[in-house]
This record gives sequence, structure tokens and C-alpha cells, in this order.
Amino acid sequence: MRVSPLPIGDILRDLGAELHPDSLLAESTSLGIGGYTDRIVIRRCDGLPEIIRLLDDSGIPHRFLGGGTNLLVADGELPWVVLQLPSIRGGVEIADNIATVDAAADLGGMVTFCARHNLGGMEGLIGVPGSVGGALRMNAGAYGTQIGAYVREVRLFRRSTGALETLRGCDIRFDYRHTSFGLDDVFLSVKLELPLRPYREIVKAIGICNQKRRASQPLNQKSAGCIFKNPPGSSTGRILDELGLKGFRVGDAMVSDRHANFFVNTGHASCADMLALIETVRDRVFAAHGLELEREVIFWEN
Ligand SMILES: Cc1cc2nc3c(=O)[nH]c(=O)nc-3n(C[C@H](O)[C@H](O)[C@H](O)COP(=O)(O)OP(=O)(O)OC[C@H]3O[C@@H](n4cnc5c(N)ncnc54)[C@H](O)[C@@H]3O)c2cc1C
Repeated sequence: MRVSPLPIGDILRDLGAELHPDSLLAESTSLGIGGYTDRIVIRRCDGLPEIIRLLDDSGIPHRFLGGGTNLLVADGELPWVVLQLPSIRGGVEIADNIATVDAAADLGGMVTFCARHNLGGMEGLIGVPGSVGGALRMNAGAYGTQIGAYVREVRLFRRSTGALETLRGCDIRFDYRHTSFGLDDVFLSVKLELPLRPYREIVKAIGICNQKRRASQPLNQKSAGCIFKNPPGSSTGRILDELGLKGFRVGDAMVSDRHANFFVNTGHASCADMLALIETVRDRVFAAHGLELEREVIFWEN
């Protein structure tokens, strides 16, 4: 999908947005998979409602891209454009035990910044790549920590009202890799209320989580983290491992031989390869255990 031939490029510029025509999304996703479309980088948050209205009025479907680390994107020319906040360094302000964080901030950078101010609680999230906005959408979590537990307030653009709003944490539901936000809501910033903890203790806990991750995950390969959610009380990685699926592949898409719930792109895997691998593995698990695995990775179809 292209906005480039339409006479809205100038308007976008006036609203503080940058148009990147024909962006290859394989270059913006950690799986290294995805076709091409126009990408609009939004430099001024107050321009967002107007930009979305403009796209809606022009009949241009759109999706919101964070760090691209939990996405499987279709191949070829894509029938929607992508909106993105510019990636930033920093983006965190601290007052007492409250951190106000831009949605585009790097999640790991935010955890270490807070640690330097003796604010902990999120040690388990270290090593989860991507943006704070993406982590909010998924209620990202690891090693017993989920970001939702610390959310006091979220500033967002709500599609249902077409306005910029602030939601209180207690009015948002955070479940296992699921939240009650509207599917098209766009997060701009979040206030996190964090427990005070000595820096040294936080750094020690971060070190332990980093070590666990390095010991169990294929961090030097292209992946989107866990492909499937864990069924209640069980581990998808263990189930796939016990079925002998490590190393199983379709084209260049492969079940990691290090962590069976990580599917990796070993070269030039297409989205079709990855989808075929996901479906085959799901069928194998259903045949063996009568269990329907739910995808954790988000699929953007064409
Ligand atoms: C090596 C590796 C390890 C991982 N380990 C973990 C883990 O331990 N735990 C875990 O939970 N996840 C893990 N992940 C998955 C992923 O990193 C997280 O889900 C991450 O929070 C996604 O953030 P993102 O910015 O990359 O989002 P994206 O992948 O860009 O987007 C994911 C979803 O969030 C939405 N989104 C992004 N930003 C915004 C915004 N500002 N406003 C509204 N919607 C937005 C997108 O529209 C999309 O629906 C891992 C991934 C990798 C590659």
C-alpha cells in the first residue's frame, strides 16, 4: 500500500511526520521477514490524531510498528501502511518512584535507567527486546515479572474516541500476554510505579536473568521470541522438545535446536515458510496431546 502517490505527503510533513516509501519490513523485524510498504514516522505525538484521520479519510489501512520483535509479517507488497514513533535513546523521566517513559523507548534501556535510580521490579524484563509500547501491548513478561504489574497510567490515542487520552492502570486489564486495550489504540507514554531497591541488588538480579536467557535462547539467530503461548501450567518449549521437534524445518524456517518454542530464520525464510512451520508444529501437538497451541507472535497478513 502506498500513500506516496497521493497528495497527502505535504500534509503529513506539516503534521510532523516523515514518509519512507517502499520500506522493506524484513529490515524492521527481528525475524528478518516481511514485505514492503510505505512507513510513516511520527515525530510529533500531537499530530497523531490528525494523521490517523487523514489515512482513514483517504481509505488507507494502517498498522502500528514498535521494535518489530514480536511480529511475523507477510511477504510481498503489503495492503496497509505502517506508522511508527521514532526510536529514541533515553525517553525516561524519574520523579520519586515513578518513571514516565516514552512508548518508543527501548525496554531494556528503560530497565537499566530505572535501576540506576534504585528503582527495580522489572529485572526479569531485561533481555526482552523491543519498545516499551510493544511490551505494554503484549504485557511482556519473563522470569515472574510482567510489565502490567507496574503500570499506573498510560497516555494513548484511542481509536474508539479519536482523541488523546490518559487511562489509569487500575482501569486496564493485564493478563498473560494479553491486555484490554483496543486493538488500534496507540500508546504514547506510560507512568510506571516501581519499588525502591538498592542498585546493587537490581544489577545482581539482572545478571542472573541475562545468564538464564543466554543459557537457553538462540540469541544470535533471527527470531521473534516464543512463537506460542504456554498452556496453563505447562511449557510449550518442553512439549515441542519432547516431540523431537528441535531442528525441524520448512525451508529456512526452523525450530531452534536451543529452545523449541523459538522458531528461527536461518537464512532467507519467507513468511510462508514460517507459517507452514507454525501450522505443522501445531498439528503435531494437537495429534499427540489434543492441545491447541495459541500463537504468541502477532501475524500481519496481506
Ligand atoms: C530474542 C527474543 C526474546 C524475547 N523474549 C521475550 C520474553 O521473555 N517475554 C516476552 O513477553 N516477549 C519476548 N519477546 C517478544 C517481544 O520482544 C516482546 O513482545 C516485545 O515487548 C515486543 O515489543 P516491540 O516494540 O518489538 O513490538 P512489535 O513487535 O513492533 O509489535 C508488537 C505489537 O505491539 C503493538 N505496538 C508496538 N508499539 C506500540 C505502541 N506504541 N502503541 C500501540 N501498539 C504498539 C504492535 O502494533 C503489535 O501489535 C522476545 C523476542 C525476541 C526476539
